[in-house]
Amino acid sequence: MRTVYVNGEYVAENDAKISVFDRGFLMADGVYEVTSVIDGKILDFEGHVLRLERSLAELGMPMPMPADDLLAIHRELVSLNAVDEGAVYLQITRGAPADRDFAFPPEGTPQTVVLFTQSKPGLAGDAAASKGIKVISIPDIRWGRRDIKTVQLLYPSMGKMMAKAAGVDDAWMVEDGMVTEGTSNNAYIVRGNTIITRHLGNEILSGITRAAVLRFAREAQMTVEERSFSIEEAQTADEAFITSATTFVMPVTEIDGVQIGSGSPGPLALRLREIYVDESRKAAV
Ligand code: PLP
Repeated sequence: MRTVYVNGEYVAENDAKISVFDRGFLMADGVYEVTSVIDGKILDFEGHVLRLERSLAELGMPMPMPADDLLAIHRELVSLNAVDEGAVYLQITRGAPADRDFAFPPEGTPQTVVLFTQSKPGLAGDAAASKGIKVISIPDIRWGRRDIKTVQLLYPSMGKMMAKAAGVDDAWMVEDGMVTEGTSNNAYIVRGNTIITRHLGNEILSGITRAAVLRFAREAQMTVEERSFSIEEAQTADEAFITSATTFVMPVTEIDGVQIGSGSPGPLALRLREIYVDESRKAAV
């Protein structure tokens, strides 16, 4: 049984308790981060904690504790649960006031802080990458502040179910004719030596993996264009892929039933995956 962290205590998962008045539960009034673990070490903690701080600030919430303390909890959970490869999930909500109320709780109401690990042996080797994934497109009907990593994940969850019903792996969301991002990842296409991915803004989450991968791509002399693209453009691209903390770089071989390039994972995507995993492994804490 896993040991999880809840508001200052390490407890067995079955003993963990959160109030029914918690605003995360009642109103999705909370933010989260998912950080990958390789070799029992945390990947890109600094990037994740900076984004966490920003998500909280955008919702008018403080950091519940210093970043170093959060890192210590991550490490302790990885150690207690003997995670070699997997992820640490962290969630912070506006806490549990005395009653349900749309208004924010009084200042000083303690925030709820929860962390738990998920063990995923084989994550870095992931055989799925050599096969790639297939996606469908769905309309993006999420709220307008997708740059904040809130726990409001109903539509992405429905999107994954739509993909499953269509017999594919995931969905890319489209707004005003342009791809925003995947249900839980950033979306890319490749033309020649150029990697194209949507520019940052309120419409997408600023992926921590995205930032690292674009940096590695530029260092490897690939050209990066940060602009939006349509499903039609993606279907005629040489390659397509997604990035996220838990999938790293994952090739996309089919979009809405149309094969991308040769129909096999593209060479640039696979090279970026290799660079990303190697470099992240080296820099892990
Ligand atoms: N976009 C969305 C909507 C996501 O949910 C995620 C990750 O969960 C990402 C992009 C990728 O972000 P990261 O690379 O930081 O995991």
